[in-house]
Amino acid sequence: MSIFSVSKKRVLVTGGAGFLGFHLCKKLLEKGYEVLAIDNFFSGFRDNIIELQKFPSFEFVRMDVKSKMNFKLDLIFNLACPASPVHYQKDPVETLTTCIQGAINVLNLANDNNATVFQASTSEVYGDPKVHPQTENYWGNVNPIGHRACYDEGKRCAETLFFDYHRQFNTKIKVARIFNTYGPRMSLDDGRVISNFISQAIKGEKISIYGNGEQTRSFCYVDDLVDGIINLTLSTSPLVGPVNLGNPEEIKIIDIAKKIIELTKSTSKISFHSLPMDDPVQRNPDISLAKDKLSWKPIITLDSGLLKTIDFFKSVIDKKR
Ligand code: NAD
Ligand code: UDP
Repeated sequence: MSIFSVSKKRVLVTGGAGFLGFHLCKKLLEKGYEVLAIDNFFSGFRDNIIELQKFPSFEFVRMDVKSKMNFKLDLIFNLACPASPVHYQKDPVETLTTCIQGAINVLNLANDNNATVFQASTSEVYGDPKVHPQTENYWGNVNPIGHRACYDEGKRCAETLFFDYHRQFNTKIKVARIFNTYGPRMSLDDGRVISNFISQAIKGEKISIYGNGEQTRSFCYVDDLVDGIINLTLSTSPLVGPVNLGNPEEIKIIDIAKKIIELTKSTSKISFHSLPMDDPVQRNPDISLAKDKLSWKPIITLDSGLLKTIDFFKSVIDKKR
């Protein structure tokens, strides 16, 4: 028996012009949902919306998730928030208020509609983790006054709001802690490690490693992640989360640099730079909960995901030349 409900539904995706928002909207449209996306283009792109407008069941409204919303819908996916450190540190107060006021607005909207609301939380709630791999019952190690705090604490407070609304008002919530995700349509200049390294390698520029490159991350291909988000949100299981979604294959940053040089057949050399403040030393999701309760696990290998991403970056860079 399927664990998913099947009726056609009207869905709101906040942050629909962003990297994950684009892929989520596309997958929902392909599944036959009516999708309304909102975005203020803080870190998203009009091109993503233009591509989605090819689907007759897609609508877009340019608006801020901090503004009060009044839509009729069945499901909400709250993704609106810059995700790359470069973007979220550009205007930290804006990032923090987007996390908090955005969460309050989508939760109230969910209550008005008796709708389920999904929250895109993050592995950053674990900060620089002292428990490894990270399990959902670990409370984290976050510096509340550091440069990453606007995002980390914003997302932690959003989780608090989600669980308080759930306990206090019976709001139907689903919360995923998303680990580093990559793939086509990442922005070339968003400062994240995969996008930086691939564009540097294709252009033959030096690969910029922060610190000594011994820090680790675990990278999930976007299609796997989107499947996990949809599984969790549509699941009729009583699981509300938080649930880790990510790929448990852990890799050192120096090794990802070498891999990207090899896969792009680049002549780029490596350069070392200072490590940003509070940069987590290690990160790896324990995904036992998602495996057990959602029968979800990533299936795309790092090499094949990187090759797809490299193809996308090459086409964008070629167009610009
Ligand atoms: P992104 O920056 O590409 O997309 C975020 C989108 O939200 C952008 O289109 C941006 O313009 C929009 N936005 C920002 N502030 C807004 C506001 N106030 N009102 C309306 N729209 C606003 O980032 P992404 O990688 O697609 O991340 C999407 C979500 O997933 C974020 O909430 C992020 O915290 C979460 N997440 C992403 C990752 C990852 O590796 N990509 C990891 C953990 C969590
Ligand atoms: N990083 C790097 N060079 C870059 C960009 C990032 O060495 O050009 C490092 C960064 O310091 C961090 C890791 O790669 O240790 C992942 O960085 P990213 O910004 O992609 O994600 P996050 O730190 O939020 O996990």
